[in-house]
Amino acid sequence: MPHIRSEPPKALVIHCIDPRFQKAFDEFIHEQLGLAEGEYIPLLVPGGIASVGKGISEFLPKNHKVLREQIQLALEVYQAEEPRVILINHEDCRAYLNLMKKLPSFATRGMTMLTRQVDDLKVASTLIEQITEKTSRRATFELYMARIGNTGNIAFDRIA
Ligand SMILES: [Zn+2]
Repeated sequence: MPHIRSEPPKALVIHCIDPRFQKAFDEFIHEQLGLAEGEYIPLLVPGGIASVGKGISEFLPKNHKVLREQIQLALEVYQAEEPRVILINHEDCRAYLNLMKKLPSFATRGMTMLTRQVDDLKVASTLIEQITEKTSRRATFELYMARIGNTGNIAFDRIA
């Protein structure tokens, strides 16, 4: 019978809800990042950190506010003192595509979804760093992009 864990979590992991990627995400988190189930806070959101990406606070302020507050709550209430913050975006993200369609064209002009996703990982980590500083926690960041290979295999590229 499972028991409640008493240890604080070691990490906050934010990634998309896309069911096609869940198995790959889980395996990557458990095997490559060394975090067992229960050792980290999984924050599953459509598009991952897309809602705290570039320009969202201006053009879709509600989306931005909700995710920012969820991140803040996860870090404050669950008491990860020096959390690893792991942000994963993935290729062919339908939520991201949908979000980009809602942005005014000048905000996305000349930007492919992939460029934006990589850029947003950095934008989001800066925002989360500001949140953790306010709560006097010291976070470390790991940013990843999940890529789809020729055979449908999923590989994780570290961005920073
Ligand atoms: Zn997605």
